[in-house]
Amino acid sequence: MNVQPKASHFIDGEYVEDTAGTPIDVIYPATGEVIARLHSATPQIIEQALNSAKRAQKAWAAMTGTERGRVLRRAADIMRERNRELSILETHDTGKPLQETLVADATSGADALEYFGGLTRSLTGEHIPLGGGDFVYTIREALGVCVGIGAWNYPTQIACWKGAPALACGNAMVFKPSETTPLSALKVAEILIEAGAPKGIYNVVQGYGDVGAALVTDPRVAKVSLTGSVPTGRKVYAAAAEGMKHVTMELGGKSPLIVFDDADIENAVSGAILGNFYSSGQVCSNGTRVFVQKGIKEAFLTRLTERLANVKIGDPMDEAVNFGPMVSEAQMNIVLGYIEKGKAEGARLVHGGARLDREGFYIQPTVFADVTDDMTIAREEIFGPVMSVLDFETEDEVMARANATEFGLAAGVFTNDLTRAHRVVAGFEAGTCYINTYNLAPVEAPFGGSKMSGVGRENSKLAINHYSEMKTVYVSMNDVEAPY
Ligand code: NDP
Repeated sequence: MNVQPKASHFIDGEYVEDTAGTPIDVIYPATGEVIARLHSATPQIIEQALNSAKRAQKAWAAMTGTERGRVLRRAADIMRERNRELSILETHDTGKPLQETLVADATSGADALEYFGGLTRSLTGEHIPLGGGDFVYTIREALGVCVGIGAWNYPTQIACWKGAPALACGNAMVFKPSETTPLSALKVAEILIEAGAPKGIYNVVQGYGDVGAALVTDPRVAKVSLTGSVPTGRKVYAAAAEGMKHVTMELGGKSPLIVFDDADIENAVSGAILGNFYSSGQVCSNGTRVFVQKGIKEAFLTRLTERLANVKIGDPMDEAVNFGPMVSEAQMNIVLGYIEKGKAEGARLVHGGARLDREGFYIQPTVFADVTDDMTIAREEIFGPVMSVLDFETEDEVMARANATEFGLAAGVFTNDLTRAHRVVAGFEAGTCYINTYNLAPVEAPFGGSKMSGVGRENSKLAINHYSEMKTVYVSMNDVEAPY
């Protein structure tokens, strides 16, 4: 498959190039080969993208919700029809196995387009009766031009999770993918045009952090939605605050997954596998601190290692493969560094722990046991296939330890005790919680973090509030009384 796009950027309904921008080499993580070359946006490209979005937005917002919804739902249909082709592209971009991308990327993007496309007719304000016949009505209005900035782990999904609610509310979006995975957002932009979207309401510009920073500080921009790490989130949030812009911050995590000794062990092991090794561990909400109650610790570790022996690592294009490479050499080296720290700080390696002896950026799924709260691997987000298993004895103890982190993205519990499950979830300091499962993120449900893991929520009806604002209109039915 030739993955070289026609040009680096997509602006005003067309592919646009400016080779004066810094080159961006797209590397296939399974082989390390350069598979495409793009260019970072120059100031002229950024200007073109923002001007186009600004021009297009008002007319888009003036269309009825029904018309906007049709465009989004048509785009969802096209994405589903082209799922295989888009999944192959996503696999080239990220290295994630085709087995995963076929079900978790363009399909998830299509779900968002369809869901928000369905909500557009219901984006209303309210009527508030007051005394003497006076009343207030509110009008839900678009914010204007929104900037989306993406991480590299779910490029299609992120482009749609931000684009779909933004467009549903009548905004225009300028989206900057991570330079590590720049290809699939271009396809989202192309598909929206094919679905009948007016030119300019969804533009894509490529680039490094400096391009993101230029977009965030531009006075034409009303809102910024970032998916990325906490350090980047801090910078972007601060820059957006200068211009009093709206923000959504979807940031990192170090989420706890608690397994009580009455849990169904096969389900708990499945949850821990999904919550640590899907997408080679490159998932923000992963439950990387797996607290296992002492009574079942050995049984849990035995089943976990038995099941990990069945993982199929290899060519991500082979649909039987279910574990692929890390997204980049840089990310692989970061993760290998954490594995070395785990060993050096005294954690017990019970599975994996090494780079694979083959081309590409492969690391074995890795499990450490006897991990303690103070170890680096238990405190910092690794963003790779490294599970830390920690022991605990009582519920009170594990709750205090689970919450003793600056992050608050997700948390999960496996137990067959119904009341305990709900009590534990009520005590979690996290935005997205799971009982007897892990890491599912349907578009109908709010998704996002507490504490340092973020601000605002993506998906669900709540996302609408983050892409629109209310205008209040006070209507008097009476004479105006003034004191003099
Ligand atoms: P980064 O924080 O490094 O980058 C995120 C995006 O921000 C990239 O597009 C990056 O561009 C851009 N960027 C960097 N600096 C600036 C700046 N000063 N102003 C504006 N934009 C900037 O994250 P990664 O791409 O490495 O992704 C991994 C992180 O994302 C992890 O921490 C993970 O937990 C988090 N994440 C959170 C999710 C959530 O929903 N909560 C989901 C997925 C990931 P460039 O790459 O070119 O530097």
